[in-house]
Amino acid sequence: MNSPLPQNALWEVFLVIVKNSIPHESYNTWFRPMRMISVIDNRITVQVPSQFYFDWIEEHYSSIIASAIAESYGPEFSLIYSILEGDSLELLKHKPIRSLRANDKKTSDESHLNHRYTFDNFIEGECNSFARAAALAVSEAPGKTLFNPLVIYGGVGLGKTHLVQAIGNFALKHNKVRRAVYVSSEQFTVDFINSVKDNKSTNFSRQYRSADILMIDDAQFFAGKERTQMEFFHTFNTLYQSGKQIVLSLDRPPSALDNMEARLISRFHVGLTVDIKPPDYETRAAILRKRVEEDCIFIPDDVLDFLALNISSNVRELEGSLIRLMAHASITGQDIDLPLAKRLLKDIIKVKQKTITVETIQNTVGKWYGIPSDLIRGNSRKKEISHSRQMAMFICNEMTNHTLKSIVSLFGNRDHATVIHSIRVIKKEFSKNKNLREEYERLKHEIEVQSF
Ligand code: ADP
Ligand code: MG
Repeated sequence: MNSPLPQNALWEVFLVIVKNSIPHESYNTWFRPMRMISVIDNRITVQVPSQFYFDWIEEHYSSIIASAIAESYGPEFSLIYSILEGDSLELLKHKPIRSLRANDKKTSDESHLNHRYTFDNFIEGECNSFARAAALAVSEAPGKTLFNPLVIYGGVGLGKTHLVQAIGNFALKHNKVRRAVYVSSEQFTVDFINSVKDNKSTNFSRQYRSADILMIDDAQFFAGKERTQMEFFHTFNTLYQSGKQIVLSLDRPPSALDNMEARLISRFHVGLTVDIKPPDYETRAAILRKRVEEDCIFIPDDVLDFLALNISSNVRELEGSLIRLMAHASITGQDIDLPLAKRLLKDIIKVKQKTITVETIQNTVGKWYGIPSDLIRGNSRKKEISHSRQMAMFICNEMTNHTLKSIVSLFGNRDHATVIHSIRVIKKEFSKNKNLREEYERLKHEIEVQSF
């Protein structure tokens, strides 16, 4: 027999398994700072930077950690977290706060659903309201609507998995079904191959054909896999004929699928196909607000707006940026403000920022208030003019990477205290005047449009 691997090597194995299961960015944020302290009596003690860290890891990664521990160390092992208290000059204490056993999985049982994905925390916007309504209808009466199968398609990170799982979670919670099975098309494929290899096709059929709702995520990965497609086709027919609900997600419309059997595609068209589009500014802002509320984290509104305005491609990226900020705040104990946020997200947001110039801001603000932009740059103290100037300065500070000093120089070289004063005035007004805040948000949007 080979001698067992030393504990450090097992820890490395654990990390590799985790690394392969989650996005790169999340791994760097949450797992790199983790330190393995000791392994005593099947208990692995690790140190994490703060309570927030621990809460976050437990909330989001406990089932991945549990499987990775089981796979690397063995199922009898458990993980104990400790938080570093005090700075390096003091004696370091490791405070065990809670242990997580290898078999403590967070996902619910055989359904493979993640409880985090619900309708309650799915923010509705123009981009997804039809998809959401269809999903809700299906989860209230699985198999009984005309929406069978329900096919949800859209680009990456737009909420397909969230919505698909919300259907299963809702239907189970409200006792609409007894068995809901959620699976990625890759897992379905692996299960099928294993069942053929191990001669256990009855088990496989039982697992999938006895579902009241079968949710297949990312079904585009069936492309090119003929035997799996055939198996899925039969599973589909069996379920459909007995009035069971089928929900599929795809990264493109069914008609754009290559290497997929025509008879399978035609099945997809029997029910309802809906799409999810990229979220608009308001939806992005609402998603972020909901997220910080849920996680009880304080991030100032102007920082959230900055994220919502600048990260428009998909929700996952939006959340990734928020996580980066929260992780930083949690490790360093520093409050997040706009300059810090800009610095921390430089690599993600820089490209876009470059294209927004002070001049565009001055012109757009000027046009908005009907004031020529040279007056905005000028010295007039007339109320309307100075208001638009203050707003323009405020926005420059927010939307560009210019320092206060360089903003001053682009506004006719006045005293740099003027910019600070303008920012204060607008901020103060915001707390009193909701309309002004809306005006400002529309203005920012307009500037964004003018800049691209
Ligand atoms: P997809 O499966 O389309 O790639 P996901 O469902 O994995 O996207 O969504 C990525 C992340 O964004 C998830 O954490 C999800 O909860 C979140 N998300 C996406 N859309 C919304 C929304 N409308 N409201 C709240 N969270 C959302
Ligand atoms: Mg997905």
